[in-house]
Amino acid sequence: MRHVKNPPNPYNRYSAEYVGKPPPTKLEVFEETATKKVITKAFASDWEGGWRYTVNCYRGCIHGCTYCFARQYHEYLGYGAGTDFETKIVVKPNAPELLRQELKKTRDKMPHLDFSFATDPYLPLEAEYKLTRQCLEVCVEFRVPVAIITKSPLVTRDLDIITKLSEVSVFFSLPFLTKERSNPFEPYTPIPEARFRAMRTLSDAGVKTGIGIAPVIPGYNESDMPGLLERAKECGAQRAFMSMLHIDTDSIEEYFVQKMNERLPETRVRKIINMMSRERGGGLRHRSYAERRTGRTEQWKVTKKLFDFHAKRLGFKQSERAVVDRDEPETTAAEPVQQRLF
Ligand code: SF4
Repeated sequence: MRHVKNPPNPYNRYSAEYVGKPPPTKLEVFEETATKKVITKAFASDWEGGWRYTVNCYRGCIHGCTYCFARQYHEYLGYGAGTDFETKIVVKPNAPELLRQELKKTRDKMPHLDFSFATDPYLPLEAEYKLTRQCLEVCVEFRVPVAIITKSPLVTRDLDIITKLSEVSVFFSLPFLTKERSNPFEPYTPIPEARFRAMRTLSDAGVKTGIGIAPVIPGYNESDMPGLLERAKECGAQRAFMSMLHIDTDSIEEYFVQKMNERLPETRVRKIINMMSRERGGGLRHRSYAERRTGRTEQWKVTKKLFDFHAKRLGFKQSERAVVDRDEPETTAAEPVQQRLF
């Protein structure tokens, strides 16, 4: 059973701790009817025109990955970055209509839309709300190129819509090869094999698919990379990217370390913390935005070479992150991305 646990919210003047055992968590769903915009413009120096555009129909994510950088966005709402992020989910029921309104005004300037970055577009609530599905229908109408990043096989439900999109890529976030290795960090996500099966289904239907090995956690999952890439290749994926674990805030660091201590042997936790600290020059946090997705040691260079070697051997197109696959020249830039969400 999960108990309420949230690091203090830095935007709140006061925080409280439970005396004794905290209560069990319960799923709470809030419908946000006052949403005014659903497309977020985010700076990305390696993208066409220097910008990328994201759509998120939910806030918070039931999948509860302990490393998730989107946890910090829940603190803007006055919630916690810990169990609140996983159990207090905000739904934007008017997202499809808003998307239609925004595209009517901006379609000419909109090079692409990315579904992800603040939540999983196919978190379990999507089975009921169908907001991502309806937004994809709008994208079909406006012929907008789309990239989807997910950890859920629920994406296959929308194959009928996805195959109608003018340009589309679906990336599966798959940093661990087995359920056992995934569990300590991704306790509530569909198991890796379910994600691979979904990748196979989409690839077989002619959809361009990719794998994102992100995050790479130093001292934990580097050795999974060859197997992940091989399995992705078998499932028809054409693109691959990797990136280093990045912990963006104190709250995320506190929660991440706490969950590692609960779920991994002490020696393994110490190894991860030591290796991560070396990559970051002391501490677990990156010191600049440019360091966010990469490491600084020889060990990291070896990890990167291992990925490059196997990606090349298996014929993957490499990219720095999920992209709409247009057979464009491969990107080489590793510039920082500053996102503005909500
Ligand atoms: S599935 Fe994605 S958005 Fe959801 S918790 Fe995991 S990393 Fe965060």
